[in-house]
Amino acid sequence: MKAIVVGGGIGGLAAAVSLRRVGWEVEVRERAAAFGEIGAGVGVMPNALRALAWMGLEDEVRRLGTPRVSGGVRASDGRWLAHVPDVGQEKIIAMHRADLHGVLLRALPPEILFKDAEVTSAEELDADLVVAADGINSRLRAEVLPGAPGPVYAGATAWRGVAPGPHVLPITQTLGPGGEAGVLPLGDGRVCWYLARVAPPAAELDPVALFADWHDPIPELVASTADVIRHDIHHLPPLPTFVSGRVALLGDAAHAMTPYLGQGACMALEDAVTLAVCDGDLARYDAVRRPRTQAVWRGSLLAGRFGIEVRSPLAVAVRNLVFRAVPSKLAVRGMARFTSWEVPGVVTRTGRIPS
Ligand SMILES: Cc1cc2nc3c(=O)[nH]c(=O)nc-3n(C[C@H](O)[C@H](O)[C@H](O)COP(=O)(O)OP(=O)(O)OC[C@H]3O[C@@H](n4cnc5c(N)ncnc54)[C@H](O)[C@@H]3O)c2cc1C
Repeated sequence: MKAIVVGGGIGGLAAAVSLRRVGWEVEVRERAAAFGEIGAGVGVMPNALRALAWMGLEDEVRRLGTPRVSGGVRASDGRWLAHVPDVGQEKIIAMHRADLHGVLLRALPPEILFKDAEVTSAEELDADLVVAADGINSRLRAEVLPGAPGPVYAGATAWRGVAPGPHVLPITQTLGPGGEAGVLPLGDGRVCWYLARVAPPAAELDPVALFADWHDPIPELVASTADVIRHDIHHLPPLPTFVSGRVALLGDAAHAMTPYLGQGACMALEDAVTLAVCDGDLARYDAVRRPRTQAVWRGSLLAGRFGIEVRSPLAVAVRNLVFRAVPSKLAVRGMARFTSWEVPGVVTRTGRIPS
């Protein structure tokens, strides 16, 4: 059985690694001139780590990611709203996206990776399975689900960067009026950060000025970063199906979500492993993945409503009070709803594939 994976991002490479693990012949076609990832961070949560462990990549990820540090949620003046020891390695492993992408890339033989290989139609591909991992603006999705909605603006814009170190910092998410900031320390002392702000699309905004009065080290991290990446945040309204004929949508092509739960790439990794354990049974892949990812998509939307979208000082004060009243352990348990995923032991046409 042969699969062609369209898109060599985190989702596409994870699909290639996972399908090869269950015996598929795989090719990856990437339109860019090189396989790579942009300079920003990604949080690998326990669900994603289980997917990576199934691929045999857990040790390398643990080695490259955040050391054992504390973490939690803070208000923009620096007060802790929830503080948990041992977040790093236990609840989240922050990584440079290029490092996570590199771990997946090294798990694949170079001869199956085709760069400068844009796919314009699934029709042109000679394979039993086509994995559309071509991102939020997926061309293959538009081809196989022509009536489905495309991405929509989620009402906020984001900046991301990697500050030079060395720093020893907790992993934090900070909630302020109409904005949010994330600090993800890496194993080598550098720090990935992101900022998000409610704004109209393509608004001209200066992140240094907007976040100048947020708690340390946020202003310093932003000011010391040479390359800052700006993205307006879009997400994809829920699709009626993730499959069509021999095409399976995966990652952002299937369920691009807002970044407020930090689960977009984690979902792509779950998709990849599930697709492999479904072993070509695309109806089952759809039945397993659509409810799960769409629940997380809705959870992320809700996290935005109670996070970044709270703007008036009074509403922010009430939100922070509620947050502080909830014991940190309970907050962690709430998040476990999204991160407690296990690799499904799916019974397929060719027998039970162990999880
Ligand atoms: C501000 C922000 C912060 C985030 N933080 C986190 C986080 O902390 N944790 C987390 O889990 N997720 C996070 N995410 C989400 C995460 O970035 C995405 O969900 C994830 O990268 C999606 O991976 P993908 O492989 O599906 O798509 P992509 O990374 O978009 O990859 C698609 C690939 O397909 C290629 N391609 C496109 N069209 C074609 C074609 N026609 N032919 C061939 N190749 C093609 C592209 O060049 C690209 O390489 C964040 C997102 C944002 C915006």
